[in-house]
Amino acid sequence: MLNRAIDGKPLVYLDNAATSQTPECVVDAITQMYHGHKANVHRGVHTLSQEATDRVEATREKVRGFINAHSIEEVIFTRGTTEGINLVASSMGEMMCNGDEIIVTEMEHHSNIVPWQLLGQRKRIRLRVVPVRDDGTLDLDAYEDLFGDSTRFVSITHMSNVLGTVNPVKKMIEIAHRHNVPVLVDGAQAAPHMPIDVQDLDCDFYALSAHKMYGPTGVGVLYGKKSWLERMTPYQGGGEMISTVTFGHTTFAALPFKFEAGTPHFVGIAAFGAAIDYLNELGMSEIAAREHELLCYATQQLRAIPGMRIYGEAEDKGAVISFLVNDINSYDMGLLLDKLGFAVRTGHHCAQPLMARYGVTGMVRASLAFYNTHDEIERLAAAIARVSQMF
Ligand SMILES: *Cc1c(COP(=O)(O)O)cnc(C)c1O
Repeated sequence: MLNRAIDGKPLVYLDNAATSQTPECVVDAITQMYHGHKANVHRGVHTLSQEATDRVEATREKVRGFINAHSIEEVIFTRGTTEGINLVASSMGEMMCNGDEIIVTEMEHHSNIVPWQLLGQRKRIRLRVVPVRDDGTLDLDAYEDLFGDSTRFVSITHMSNVLGTVNPVKKMIEIAHRHNVPVLVDGAQAAPHMPIDVQDLDCDFYALSAHKMYGPTGVGVLYGKKSWLERMTPYQGGGEMISTVTFGHTTFAALPFKFEAGTPHFVGIAAFGAAIDYLNELGMSEIAAREHELLCYATQQLRAIPGMRIYGEAEDKGAVISFLVNDINSYDMGLLLDKLGFAVRTGHHCAQPLMARYGVTGMVRASLAFYNTHDEIERLAAAIARVSQMF
């Protein structure tokens, strides 16, 4: 992928916040599953089924270690962050009543807004929103003021996919717990870029997507504290999640299987294990340090372009730069950059309320990964300058 050309120009891939590229070892793991170990998991006594099951469960243990969960019972495989949040909204929603309130932030991805709104339509639950300040950080005083007798849940992003802001989630969780309110952290952007420790954060739930972590598409993880998962009703019904079934009554399987109805994406889950090995080999702290250095260099290069406005200037920021130049439409900028070989994202980035907050309809976003280079950043800056002179 990274050696591809676009319109005869070498590809510069800067859309890592949408999805990351896939290392050879992960592609190999997918092929190996199809070539040698494809059988349905957790069912058969035959050797193939055992081999596939072993690979899925090996990944579960790798994920547990990667996020430092207490036990594998707390690691649920999903289709991605979106499904993880929907699972929690649906099951925790069963425990909520009319008039309850849920706190989210103004910088949430649509997948951490809409599931709560759908719940709100069923139960008249109200969303309370933590405002974003001009520099892209959250107003923590306003956050604390939102808590009241009706607050039942907090759902916040660890890192903004638009502003790059890394939120002080540990502190925010501590505040919520002081009010006896559980917290879900949307880790779709944070998990690929920094070490994650769910026990240190003390979050009640943590959702992530494998495809943004150099893993395959269609796989995600929901971490949940055992004490919550035991009390929650299943999200979907089907095979794998049951213990006994009669037409009169069904008992559910033990954790984590209670939340894994149907045949999972076992090929993808096995390959996700290879992605985690790959990340551990590079080292998450090393990745974070390398990307921080790339972010500083890119910020400095882009800031030098006349008419450049960068959105998101938090001290603690991941390697995402969203920007506009003069009054050039983000779509026009993206289209012309594509012609020059640059893959950047344009538009609302699944965060329309955040676009409204900044009074724009879209932004251009360059999101970096450890495999991006200084040379690519210099070429991006030159290309943006060239495009902006065309208007
Ligand atoms: C990508 C993303 C999501 C959704 O992830 P999916 O893989 O599409 O389910 C949620 N939140 C944030 C912050 C994201 O960047």
